[in-house]
Amino acid sequence: MELLRAKHVKYLNRCLGILPQSSEMHDTNRMTICFFALSGLDLLDALNLSETEKKSIIDWIYAQQVQPDGENASQCGFRGSPVVGSPFIVQDKWIPIPFDCSHITMTYTALASLLILGDDLSRVNRKAIVSGLKGLQLVDGSYFAVPFGGENDMRFLYCACCISAILGDWRGVDQTKAVDFIVKSQGYDYGIGQGPNQESHGGSTFCAIASLALMNRLESAFDERQLEGLKKWCLNRQQSGFNGRPNKPVDTCYSFWIGASLKLLGCYDFVNEDLIRGFTLSTQSTVIGGLSKWPDCHPDPLHTYLGLCGLSLMNESGLQPIHPALNISRRATVAAKLLL
Ligand SMILES: [Zn+2]
Repeated sequence: MELLRAKHVKYLNRCLGILPQSSEMHDTNRMTICFFALSGLDLLDALNLSETEKKSIIDWIYAQQVQPDGENASQCGFRGSPVVGSPFIVQDKWIPIPFDCSHITMTYTALASLLILGDDLSRVNRKAIVSGLKGLQLVDGSYFAVPFGGENDMRFLYCACCISAILGDWRGVDQTKAVDFIVKSQGYDYGIGQGPNQESHGGSTFCAIASLALMNRLESAFDERQLEGLKKWCLNRQQSGFNGRPNKPVDTCYSFWIGASLKLLGCYDFVNEDLIRGFTLSTQSTVIGGLSKWPDCHPDPLHTYLGLCGLSLMNESGLQPIHPALNISRRATVAAKLLL
């Protein structure tokens, strides 16, 4: 099967304009779905928005920037959508909404989307975001997603690294603690879990490896035995596609999570590209476009985007090259003059 480029362009443009009904539970994560659509169209070299459309998306993203004053610095960043409640003006006075705060993943995907749209980040409250990041890091080196606590794991550490790399300011990350957390999260099987003593998983393994790559610590963090074991664990995820854990079915998104990990580890040459490409393309919807987790399933924005990213790692014709650690096109990182 060939890449159904025109159908994917249509599907992603639809996702950009309106949230598919199947994704309605993600109303609070609209920033991330917007990123999947924009970055997917960018990879497909099909981000043909008019200046007015571009401006309206940029303005919508900036409207999600949370900027509380002084002592609430840890709430700064971007919210996922106005559904969580944005402040409003009554008689020239801003009325705050309780619990309105940023989410670390939304901050990463908002900044990445702004770069893709060619924005110069001049309206980003850099100082507040960096100080907010600092407040989200725990003593063990991991990160919370929101200042009120909740989960803390490898996903949010990765988002902190992406935000710092995009802003070119690492003062929000204690890198020694972050590297320590990553190394401690390597399991007995050499894969990496969401935290120490957790099951190794393809998603957390990518987040760990990409974070180390962004911090320039991939070579020095592990000893040779740990690094070789990690490469082997990733290579062993190759079945008829990539899976995320031993004895689990293969899934489109791991074309990127595992593929990018192998790229960063310098051993993508051992990948059977025909096999991975064949599986990934078999999950395309021939009717409405988009890719899904498995063949003959309903497509969704996440698997569409990550499937395209996985194909880009294999230099699929018609796709822009991707930066495997930051998960946006290389063109966007070059245009933004990021020092990666
Ligand atoms: Zn998946």
